[in-house]
Amino acid sequence: MPNAVTSAEIEKAIRNVPDFPKAGIQFKDITPVLADARLFAGTIDLLTQNFEPGMVDAVVGIDARGFIFAAAAAKQLQAGFVPVRKKGKLPFKTYEEDYALEYGHATVAMHVDALKPGARVLLIDDLLATGGTAAAATLLVKRLGAQILEIGFVIELKFLNGRDRLKGVPVRSLVSY
Ligand code: AMP
Repeated sequence: MPNAVTSAEIEKAIRNVPDFPKAGIQFKDITPVLADARLFAGTIDLLTQNFEPGMVDAVVGIDARGFIFAAAAAKQLQAGFVPVRKKGKLPFKTYEEDYALEYGHATVAMHVDALKPGARVLLIDDLLATGGTAAAATLLVKRLGAQILEIGFVIELKFLNGRDRLKGVPVRSLVSY
């Protein structure tokens, strides 16, 4: 692909914001990537590069930054888009999964009819940290009887070993720290 975007270019554009939203967190801000037309398109090309239209039935995106990448990837792959949302946001009947956070817990939800049994799914989020969120989303997709072909992240914080919680599914990330 002529002039294809590289992971190094994406990494250069990601802004590190120390101590947000609380002391000790190095927040990876992807808004400069989104605001750059070439980088945004190139990020979607990289996230979808293992697939062609017709190979994926739905791209599942995780609330909220995952939606941005997953929706664009769904358009690119001519697939549907399905949201995994934080509890209490989806209007219809849902399945829910609880998972542990550093302090306390969180719950993600999916509509009970969001995916057909056997649907081929690409799961996308912006960042893999401890893997709790993606593991909970994986359980929801499996509960609907769908199959995950791959889980894609723009960023992976390797030192948190999130991949260990996503065993059995191919995991890809574009930029790692
Ligand atoms: P985890 O469940 O620990 O893998 O956390 C992943 C979720 O938290 C993703 O949806 C990210 O958007 C968000 N997140 C966690 N750590 C960071 C970080 N350092 N910078 C930006 N987002 C983060």
